[in-house]
Amino acid sequence: MDCLFCKIVAGEIPSKKAYEDDQILAFHDIAPIAPVHILIVPKKHINRANELTEADAALVGHIFAVAANLAREYGVADGFRILTNNGESAGQTVSHLHFHLIGGRKLGEMA
Ligand code: AMP
Ligand code: ZN
Repeated sequence: MDCLFCKIVAGEIPSKKAYEDDQILAFHDIAPIAPVHILIVPKKHINRANELTEADAALVGHIFAVAANLAREYGVADGFRILTNNGESAGQTVSHLHFHLIGGRKLGEMA
C-alpha cells in the first residue's frame, strides 16, 4: 500500500524512533511545532479516527498509556497535548491514523 506511515513502520523510510512495540510505533515529527512533537501510530493501517471501532479499544488505550510514558520520558508530563486530525478539513495530511504528542512550550488555545 502506498502509505507513508506504513513505509515508516516497515522501515522502508527512516524515522527517529521514540518507542516501538508489536502494536505501535512512535517517532519524532519531521516538522515539529514544539520542542516535543512525537507521532504515535498503530502498526496496522487504519485511515483515520472515524474508522475506529470497539475492537480497537485496547489499541487506543495502549497508545494513550505509551503517550503518557513518553511525556514523562521527555519531561513534559505536566503539560502536553494529544491530538489526532480526522479528515482533510481538520488538517489530516497523512491517511494513516496518528496521534500527535506535543509539549515543551506554552500551548495556545485550540482553533
Ligand atoms: P497530520 O497533518 O495530522 O496528518 O500530521 C502529519 C504529520 O506528519 C505532520 O505533522 C508532518 O510534519 C509529519 N510528517 C510527514 N512526513 C513525515 C516523515 N517522513 N517523518 C516524520 N513525520 C512526518
Ligand atoms: Zn498506513
